[in-house]
Amino acid sequence: MNRIILIKYGELTTKKGNRKLFINTLYKNINLKLKNLNVTITSDLSRMYIEYESSEEELILKKIKEVFGIHKFLIAYKTNSNMDNIKNTIKEVMDNTISSGRNYTFKVETKRSDKRFPMDSMEINYELGEFILKNFKNLQVDVHNPEIIVHVEIRIDYSYVYLNEYDGLGGYPVGTLGQASLMLSGGIDSPVAGYLAIKRGIKLNLVYFEAIPHTSLEARNKVIELAKKLAIYGGEMRLIVVPFTKLQEEIYKNVLENYPITIMRRMMYRIMEKLSLKYKSLAIVNGESIGQVASQTLTSMNAINSVTSIPVIRPVACFDKLEIIDIAKKIDTYDISILPYEDCCTVFVPRHPIINPSIEKCIEMEQKFDYETLIDEIMNNLLVIKIDENYEINKYEDVL
Ligand code: ATP
Ligand code: MG
Repeated sequence: MNRIILIKYGELTTKKGNRKLFINTLYKNINLKLKNLNVTITSDLSRMYIEYESSEEELILKKIKEVFGIHKFLIAYKTNSNMDNIKNTIKEVMDNTISSGRNYTFKVETKRSDKRFPMDSMEINYELGEFILKNFKNLQVDVHNPEIIVHVEIRIDYSYVYLNEYDGLGGYPVGTLGQASLMLSGGIDSPVAGYLAIKRGIKLNLVYFEAIPHTSLEARNKVIELAKKLAIYGGEMRLIVVPFTKLQEEIYKNVLENYPITIMRRMMYRIMEKLSLKYKSLAIVNGESIGQVASQTLTSMNAINSVTSIPVIRPVACFDKLEIIDIAKKIDTYDISILPYEDCCTVFVPRHPIINPSIEKCIEMEQKFDYETLIDEIMNNLLVIKIDENYEINKYEDVL
């Protein structure tokens, strides 16, 4: 087949020193994404090229749209570098792409990297423009604001012809910016926070705190479904299920008034810190959004954050709920998130959680029970599941 998918890199081209890492990682990620398909992928410093079977074109294009680090992509038609072949290919491209039922404006844009080619770019543009005008009565030249740009790239061995470029997802290739741990609840915000962190090239571990029997297995399965959606963009990920029941019960026995949520979140952060060391994460990511609930005021964030020195990244901190929902719908997590299963946080919510907790009071209450032993016990009883986008629920595979 004479079609080839051509991929243009995103922001990574501005990071000169890291270029190799970025390109190699993107190459690896695209290979993984297309691993069951019949493709040959090659790359150079500015582009990646995918040769493929035409029957798999649609599927490949869908998958390319799920890979971070791609700025633009397009389908190029490959041909020999002589004017007759280029003209025939232009005719084929146009026949396949434009409809005869309406008029279009166009221009030709030529890039000539083989300087031995006997005509310069302007001459080529002119001759190909004439050819198009002669063959397509519904096309008119507009060099300033054309609807269609006919791109021609002339190289030594062969040339490319293509029309439209499509937008890629942007961002950085996953794995180029280190590893972090996402606190993944069954809610709307944390999957979106995870998606945005993945977009910055971060490889994620996922951490879910569960309180069986106060929470159900359905709630866990809901988190797994969300994890599978994130794995579309982030590749295979560990989901670490934290048995939180005993610690949570102790909190509610020992902590008075309106502090349980604050203390519970301090415990979560302590566990996140231990998990980060264990699984080599450099940051904690979560779905906190300023002002959304009592534990997300700046005072609360201070009281909670003070138990750890690891950076906490809150990608949706400054988003409105509606902005978060927009992204959740785009990445297909919204419908899963709104399923009704209870979360470990919602099970024990006090009627009036404190919005300006004091750190001294937190410490005072925490001295009433031996949370350190409970945390050690938790760390010895983690369930770790490896999840990819095709993971089948109920086939838990412990990889402790
Ligand atoms: P979400 O919609 O993501 O659940 P939320 O608005 O309900 O967020 P909170 O319940 O206060 O807010 O939680 C804030 C953040 O703490 C969540 O976005 C998530 O990152 C983390 N979190 C809360 N509960 C859990 C849990 N059971 N397991 C893992 N992380 C959690
Ligand atoms: Mg929640």
